Amino acid sequence: MMSVQIGFEPKVAFLCPKCHKDVEMVYERPKGTWMSDHGNCLNFSLVRELPAIGGRASEGPVVFISIESDFSIKDAVEELRRLCDGEGEQSKRQKIEAGIRRLETRTGFAEKALPAAMDALKSGAFGLRVVSGRNIYAMVWKAGERYYGAADGAGQADTSSVIATSSLDEAQKFVTYWMHYWDSRHLV
Ligand SMILES: [Zn+2]
Repeated sequence: MMSVQIGFEPKVAFLCPKCHKDVEMVYERPKGTWMSDHGNCLNFSLVRELPAIGGRASEGPVVFISIESDFSIKDAVEELRRLCDGEGEQSKRQKIEAGIRRLETRTGFAEKALPAAMDALKSGAFGLRVVSGRNIYAMVWKAGERYYGAADGAGQADTSSVIATSSLDEAQKFVTYWMHYWDSRHLV
């Protein structure tokens, strides 16, 4: 299902678990990041090293489905609006506005994509990477018959930042907790 070609232009190809079309992730040397052009559907990221849980590293999937919280989208839109307000050039402003509209269509998408994402997680072929917002992320993956999860950026005080469970339900609770991490927190 997955192939990795190491050559002049490294890429990873796989089938999107939601729309079943081919996805190619290509390594962009200047940025040092893996990019996929798979618009209006799931976004993916490549994870080379999984967090160690309980001092143990596990073998897991490499491709993670990005689950962008509505909060993180709203935050990104506000950031772009600020950029737009400070931009004097009309053509650049139009580009930023197009970006804002694109982002706004993603609101609510994570919720809709969650069943497909959970199926993909269950298969073991994909992990999930929740983008909570404000530099907080949570990763969930399956290794053997268990699901592992680790959040990053929320500080050590958060007791919900790690899971190891054989229950898919618990894995899903972990995902939705981090999808809505900021919803219950009052932010000015
Ligand atoms: Zn797709």
